[in-house]
Amino acid sequence: MKLMHREIPVELLRKLPAGIKIVNRGGEEFLVIEDVRCPQGHSLAVDSVRIHGEPSIKLHVKVKEDEGSIFVDAFWGSHAKLFSFLPSDLEGEPIVEASCPTCGTSLMEKRDCVLEDCGSNENILLKLPNGRDEIHVCGRLGCPGHQIKLAELPAHVSNAVSEINFFGARFDEMFGDI
Ligand SMILES: [Zn+2]
Ligand SMILES: [Zn+2]
Repeated sequence: MKLMHREIPVELLRKLPAGIKIVNRGGEEFLVIEDVRCPQGHSLAVDSVRIHGEPSIKLHVKVKEDEGSIFVDAFWGSHAKLFSFLPSDLEGEPIVEASCPTCGTSLMEKRDCVLEDCGSNENILLKLPNGRDEIHVCGRLGCPGHQIKLAELPAHVSNAVSEINFFGARFDEMFGDI
């Protein structure tokens, strides 16, 4: 099964915001989140844990009674994650409470998941370094719902980028193990 390559809108390539880069793998271009911030401006990207060869995004999370760190794949549209702990209760795909690992500020926002059948109204809000571009990620573990809002580009560009989604198995087949 081959990864279905999704086109990156040319308008985005022409005006790539700080914090997003293009990475070429296997002759194809992918968007990679290079830097996202908490509301206080701390960068969440960490070089110490790499996924698919790139620095990952580190979040502190609480899953029901357990808490620890998760490292999220920076490839846009991938949903690979590594846990520093083993959540003991994943029944019903719980919603995580994410916060900045540096200052502890909550990253949660009240916002409906973009996927109607998910039903979550808790999202994780990540800001690009310019402070205006925003990434919204559904807080429900296992839900692929995500959205990007690029303040300086037309809405159709944000919508096209938001629709880029790779499902774990296919992506991992292409790149091998994380
Ligand atoms: Zn912070
Ligand atoms: Zn969701």
